[in-house]
Amino acid sequence: MQIATDTTRNREPGTENQDAFAVAGASPVRGLKSLGKALLDDLEAAGFVSLGDLWFTFPLRFEDRTQILPMHALRPGSSAQFIAKVEHAEIRFGKRRSLCVIVGDGAQRVMLRFFYFKQAQADSFKVGQRVLLFGDVKAGPHSLEIVHPRYKLIGEHESVEVAGALTPIYPTIQGLGPARLLRAIDAALAQLPKGDGWMPSGKQWPSLADSIRALHRPANRQEADALKLGKHPARDRLALEELLAHHLSLRLVRQRVRSERAPVLRATGRLRERLLASLGFALTGAQKKVLAEIDRDLASSAPMLRLVQGDVGSGKTIVAALAMLAAIESGVQAALMAPTELLAEQHRRNLERWFAPLGLFGVNLSARVKGRARESTLAALANDAQWAVGTHALMQDAVAFRALGLAVIDEQHRFGVNQRLALAEKGRFGERRPHQLVMTATPIPRTLAMTQFADLDVSVIDELPPGRSPIQTVAVSRQRRLEVIGRIKDACAAGRQVYWVCTLIEESDEVQAQAAQNTAAELIDALRGVRVGLVHGRMKPNDRAPVMQAFSDGDIQLLVATTVIEVGVDVPNASLMIIENPERLGLAQLHQLRGRVGRGAVESSCVLLYEPPLGETARERLQVLRDSQDGFVIAERDLALRGPGEVLGTRQTGLASFRVADLARDAHWLMEAQRLAGPLIESEPRTAEMLVKRWVGSAVHYAKA
Ligand code: ADP
Ligand code: MG
Repeated sequence: MQIATDTTRNREPGTENQDAFAVAGASPVRGLKSLGKALLDDLEAAGFVSLGDLWFTFPLRFEDRTQILPMHALRPGSSAQFIAKVEHAEIRFGKRRSLCVIVGDGAQRVMLRFFYFKQAQADSFKVGQRVLLFGDVKAGPHSLEIVHPRYKLIGEHESVEVAGALTPIYPTIQGLGPARLLRAIDAALAQLPKGDGWMPSGKQWPSLADSIRALHRPANRQEADALKLGKHPARDRLALEELLAHHLSLRLVRQRVRSERAPVLRATGRLRERLLASLGFALTGAQKKVLAEIDRDLASSAPMLRLVQGDVGSGKTIVAALAMLAAIESGVQAALMAPTELLAEQHRRNLERWFAPLGLFGVNLSARVKGRARESTLAALANDAQWAVGTHALMQDAVAFRALGLAVIDEQHRFGVNQRLALAEKGRFGERRPHQLVMTATPIPRTLAMTQFADLDVSVIDELPPGRSPIQTVAVSRQRRLEVIGRIKDACAAGRQVYWVCTLIEESDEVQAQAAQNTAAELIDALRGVRVGLVHGRMKPNDRAPVMQAFSDGDIQLLVATTVIEVGVDVPNASLMIIENPERLGLAQLHQLRGRVGRGAVESSCVLLYEPPLGETARERLQVLRDSQDGFVIAERDLALRGPGEVLGTRQTGLASFRVADLARDAHWLMEAQRLAGPLIESEPRTAEMLVKRWVGSAVHYAKA
């Protein structure tokens, strides 16, 4: 999208102030000379280039250090600043090594606990030392406690200055201490232009500048609390603006893409008939319905932008394959892109199996295709290949398609919006761009779908193929681990196949791999006679593929895996899954994992092997999984139990992350944003672009022509 910078043409009424804001916001941080060169260099290195970058970096919370409380006024559950003297300090070696410091004023005592500390720090807490403290006060077993207080050692008669205002706590930024960032933001805030900026009508809103200032520097504690609770007009205004901007960015991308031309694809049905006849099953009604929706799009010269949502196991792959045939029959190429090597490899096998008998020629491209093989693959893509499958390697610059007519992107939640758009850009040939089909099993609650998919038409496969038996889900405490292992033995003896999933989401691939290796070793030991395989993210795809193949062929009975198997893997004979520490994962992710079983006709079960004790929410969440097998129900419950950022598993959502808005809380603003978006694009396109630039900025670069 080309953001117009020429302010003299096409001026809409009321845009002068917006321009003032845009101009000021774009002016360089470098201009804040008072900050000194060293700080300016560090700011730039940390990515703060324009004033806007500083304005729109908001505090996470506020600390009230405006007063020093007497110790008798400390209350559990609140944060407080006070002065006390060290009475005792020791390092304890319990379950976790910790530094415990008892401080008091002669009458009251508080225990300070540090789990991370240096020896010098421990030594500095000498009996009688005066300390200025700030922290969250909690009730401990013997006295009030503060874990990791902020503190400053002070002299016997040293006078202490209190802060004049609430202390904003900003996100930690590498290379910039909190005090320096604070100074920079203060300097930037002083440059906020007057004027209102764009203003949604219908309500008396605070101005843009005042809103930004209010979020950074609330006047008092009540205001800070109102911000935190989402009950402050300044926050509301910015949240609405932000949601609107994200929504607009997708709508504008859509508008742009749809105004271009795609090849008109009309399936003759010749290839499809042959494929369908070879399948051994008939399409479900839902699959047929969705395929018809896709066909209608393909037959038009406006590029298709369609999302197919279908729960795990609903049969999205065959729908994609049939759509690909329409492209191939029309003489253009079709490509299928998957988020992982594992999944790309599985798709390759399926497409090969389905397409080769039709005499079609396809290639496979991933990072593991190297050297000569890669060269010939690239040559084929530029030439006679009719279809392609692969990972995001398909998006690399060196890849040039002869004529890509259809780009299918599987499990889109693993890709960001940008990557999705990039493949479409990639596939451009001449004046035309490919149709896009995006598939996801992640059932997204309606509110989230509105932000995420405003650029897509949505089709839902709302029916599972017949003959699936429901999955029995049980939650079992880790104390019964041996019993569970015994159950694996029985299952394998009965000819069933089993997944054992190790979850360690936050850790590195390496740590995960190690954990999975240990578990595999333990299970091999405990289950003599059972053929055990292992896959994890640290394995080279070349080593992983044969293991998956062996599991698929039934040669491996028990597959120990990390969450790499989460998406897409399809082995119908696998009917038992054990998930270790399910409490660590999001519900949607658990639902995805569980979807690996229950794909055949046999009764399947899933054992959630949790680590006790479970908190209240964790218990409720596991209960949701036991109660329901419907991805949409699970997603809605998950949204209610946790924030939206977590619903899809934060690391892999491809969801926009927001600076101010909070989807769980701001659903009504989202509706409002939707309502405002259409008219704004129609009558004030420049304002729309300005809002997008302000809030979404570079994220829409891929949409550029
Ligand atoms: P997902 O939607 O999770 O990607 P897949 O496309 O992997 O699901 O399909 C799951 C399994 O169901 C595959 O083994 C596939 O061949 C099978 N399948 C798909 N459609 C049907 C159908 N209409 N009837 C029976 N089995 C089907
Ligand atoms: Mg799939």
